[in-house]
Amino acid sequence: MQEIAEKTLVLLKPEAVRRKLIGRILSRFEDANLTIEKLNLTSFKRETLAELYKEHRGKDFYDNIVSGFAGKTMVALVLAGPEGTIPKVRSLIGATDPLQAAPGSIRGDLACHMQPDNLIHASDSSEAAARELSLFFPDLQD
Ligand code: ADP
Ligand code: MG
Repeated sequence: MQEIAEKTLVLLKPEAVRRKLIGRILSRFEDANLTIEKLNLTSFKRETLAELYKEHRGKDFYDNIVSGFAGKTMVALVLAGPEGTIPKVRSLIGATDPLQAAPGSIRGDLACHMQPDNLIHASDSSEAAARELSLFFPDLQD
């Protein structure tokens, strides 16, 4: 049995679904021995995405990531693993701008641009993970 010490929220953005990259992206996490604890293929309301991205309110790309993603099919998952899972997942997804993302990372290998999206979201700290997991998976147990 793998020790579960940390959980993080990952979202596959609409472009990942549209380009049929779900399986390839999920394989990256399973290959890294992380556990997919929950997974939903669904769409989200504007209000949920506005809460996720509230730190970006007022920026020029805000409408793209809030109204632009609302109602489109996405994948939300809870990834679980040992201590260090939250930074490990950030490292697996790569830098925000796909042009800067390292080869071998998900964005570095599979994403082409920031807009309409850069394929994937992952919580960037334990505080963010707790907040984002409760937003997308309100029934999740610790
Ligand atoms: P990350 O997703 O790596 O945590 P941020 O939290 O900084 O990155 O930004 C949230 C999302 O907003 C990014 O994943 C991307 O979809 C979008 N974004 C950020 N910066 C830009 C930008 N300069 N132009 C367009 N979209 C952006
Ligand atoms: Mg972020």
